[in-house]
Amino acid sequence: MQDTAPSTVVADADSEATAVRRPALSPSRASDFKQCPLLYRFRAVDRLPEQPRKPQVRGTLVHAVLEQLFALPAAERSPERARELLEPTWQRLSEEREDWLELFDGPEDVAEWLSDAESLLDGYFALEDPRRLEPEACELRVETELDSGVLLRGYIDRLDVAPTGEVRVVDYKSGAAPREIGEAKAMFQMKFYAVVLWRLRGEVPRQLRLMYLSDQQSLAYAPDEAELRRFERTLEAIWQAILRAGKTGDFRPSPSRLCDYCDHKALCPAFDGQPPEYPGWPEPDPGEESVLDRAD
Ligand code: SF4
Repeated sequence: MQDTAPSTVVADADSEATAVRRPALSPSRASDFKQCPLLYRFRAVDRLPEQPRKPQVRGTLVHAVLEQLFALPAAERSPERARELLEPTWQRLSEEREDWLELFDGPEDVAEWLSDAESLLDGYFALEDPRRLEPEACELRVETELDSGVLLRGYIDRLDVAPTGEVRVVDYKSGAAPREIGEAKAMFQMKFYAVVLWRLRGEVPRQLRLMYLSDQQSLAYAPDEAELRRFERTLEAIWQAILRAGKTGDFRPSPSRLCDYCDHKALCPAFDGQPPEYPGWPEPDPGEESVLDRAD
């Protein structure tokens, strides 16, 4: 562990461009390591490309539309306005990521997929009225260093702060309400953000709220300080385990039914594959989340 004084930073685009970035733990990569150390290696160390999937890209699109919606004056945040934002937002995203266009069989396929995205926006409006909210931030990049020196970094979909100062962390989920593993993974992510915000602002967030847009359900959870302290120790243990594996390259496969969703099965020894030669611990920044991670 590093012997550094605790510090907190809210990163912005400028500091991101100029700062020397240190290795950090993100919620998605921490979940990967917990699920399967070799999956973590493939994603964060080898950085092997993965095939984007339509539902993930749709989640990214819906997140981007909701972000733009909250940039409008409150009175304009209607369902109609949100639907109007869909096409131009998709236009912009698909210009930035032309590979996403390859997922579609033609304009009809895109239109059908956009209509699914529209249903997710309707699901959002069934859960709350954005005209009554004034979030402090959307798609907020946050970073904080724990006393142990572990750097935590991630993106929060939305941060609501009441006039009394109470903080609510909101995360949109574009898939159906998960069961078992999915729900545990979502709660892990939310506790991660709760720890980061607690360290940044000095107060435990009052509520963590997960909004499942496709089935119009939401889950609310109130963390407490003792729990977040324990969770901090869990994150420190995960990071130390990653660093140990990173030194030697000993990232072991941990097969589960989630292997069905793994893009790297063909390289996995658990399925008679051969991983590429270990490239060594990456500098400066393993653990970064992709835009698709953030919208799952
Ligand atoms: S196939 Fe399964 S065990 Fe192998 S790397 Fe992927 S998640 Fe891990």
